[in-house]
Amino acid sequence: MPHHASPAIPLLIKGGRLIDPATGTDATLDVAIGADGRVDAIGPDLPELPDGRTIDASGLIVAPGLIDPHVHLREPGGEHKETIRSGTAAALAGGFTTVCCMPNTTPALDSPRVLADLAERCQRTAQCRVYPVAAGSIGRKGEQPAPIQALAAGGAVGISDDGDAIADPALMAHVLAQTAKANLAFMQHCQDPTITVGSSMHDGEVSTRLGLVGWPRHAEEVIIERDIALVEQTGCSYHVQHISSAGSVELVRAARARGLPVTAEASPHHLMLTHEACEGFNTLAKMNPPLREQSDVESIRQAVVEGVITVLATDHAPHAKHEKEQPFEDAPFGIIGLETALPLYAEALVHTGLIDWPRLIALLTVEPARLCRLERLGLGQLALGGPADITLIDADHRWTFEESQVAGRSANSPFLGRTMVGRAVASIVAGAERMDRLVAAR
Ligand SMILES: [Zn+2]
Repeated sequence: MPHHASPAIPLLIKGGRLIDPATGTDATLDVAIGADGRVDAIGPDLPELPDGRTIDASGLIVAPGLIDPHVHLREPGGEHKETIRSGTAAALAGGFTTVCCMPNTTPALDSPRVLADLAERCQRTAQCRVYPVAAGSIGRKGEQPAPIQALAAGGAVGISDDGDAIADPALMAHVLAQTAKANLAFMQHCQDPTITVGSSMHDGEVSTRLGLVGWPRHAEEVIIERDIALVEQTGCSYHVQHISSAGSVELVRAARARGLPVTAEASPHHLMLTHEACEGFNTLAKMNPPLREQSDVESIRQAVVEGVITVLATDHAPHAKHEKEQPFEDAPFGIIGLETALPLYAEALVHTGLIDWPRLIALLTVEPARLCRLERLGLGQLALGGPADITLIDADHRWTFEESQVAGRSANSPFLGRTMVGRAVASIVAGAERMDRLVAAR
C-alpha cells in the first residue's frame, strides 16, 4: 500500500555491519542506493556517489527495514488514540519501515471499499509502508464470513478478526478454507470468549489477591488446539498472535514438528513482564492476552531460541490517558510498543545470550515478510534492485524512554522511565531517510 513519499537522493551507507538474514550476510559492507529508492550496489569500499550523501555507519548495524506484522493504527474511528500519521511516525522512531495494521477499526476492514479508503488515507499521511490485515468475518462479529477473495485482491496481506477469536468452529473452518485459497495466512487472536467473561488479568495468585476475575491459560490453548485440527483439514497457513502461555508453546511446537503450516509471534511484553506488573491495579500492565508467570516467559523465550516462535510483533495498542486511568476492570487492554520494541527484544533475547543479532534481525525482517507475503515485494531483505528500506541500529546506545519523546499520539506503556540499551538511529524507506537521530546518538 503506498505511503506518503518523499524524494530520494543517491545515498551511500558506509562501513556498517550489514546483517541480512535472507542471504545469510553478516559482514562489513557498504550499501549504495539510487535516486529511484532501490539498492544499487552492496560491497566493500564502494565509491562516493556524485550528487549523493554518505552516512558513516561504522559501529552500527545495517539491517533490512524492520517489519511489524501486528499494529493497531486506530484510524478510521479511533483517531483520539492514534492516526495513520502518528502511528507510522512511531514505527519509524522504533526502526520499523513497514507495519501491518489490524482490522479492528471503525468501520472494520471487512470490505474492499474500506480497504480502498484506508489506502487513500495512507497515500496522504502514512510515513512508512502500511499493509492491511483484513477481517475474517463481517464487522469482526464472528457470524458471517467476510469476502476473503475480494479482500485479498484489494490488498490484504493476512486475515484476522484480531481483538477477538473466530469462536464458531464451522465459520472458522470456512474462513480457513477461503484464506488458504487466497494464499494468505490466517492470524488468530486465541481467546475462547466463553472462558474469559469478566476476566481482566491472568488467573493466578495476583488476581486472587487483587480480587479480579482470572483469565486462565486454557482460554488461549483450547482455541489453538481446535484450530490445529482445522489446519489439518484445510492446509491453511495459521499464525498464533501474541502467544502468552507455555501450554500454547507446546501446541505450536507439536504442530510444527508434524509439518503443519503453523507459526507464532511473541510480543515484547510477554517476553519481559509477568502478572506481577499488575500489582497496585496498574492498568498499564493490563493486556490481552494477559501477562502470565515467569515460567511462561521462560517458555516463550526458549521457543524463540528453538525456532518454534519465528516472528516478533509488538501488538502496538494505543489508548488515551483518560481511557487507561479507569478502574482496572474498566480500562482497555493493551500498550504501545513500536518505539521500545527493539531494545526490549534485545534485552530479553540478545543480552541474555539466547540468540544473536542476526537471528533477532531475522525475526523482525525476513520472517514477518514471509508471514505477510511481503517477500514478493522484495521487503524484509536487501537485494540488488530491491526496495532500499533500511534500519540503522546502534546496539550500544543507552537511552531512557520518556513520555515527552513519544512520537505516537498515546503513551500507554509500562516501560516509561525505563533505561534501555540499543536503538534504531535511522529509518530509511525507499531510499529516503524518514527518521534520523544519528547526530544525537553520537
Ligand atoms: Zn489480539
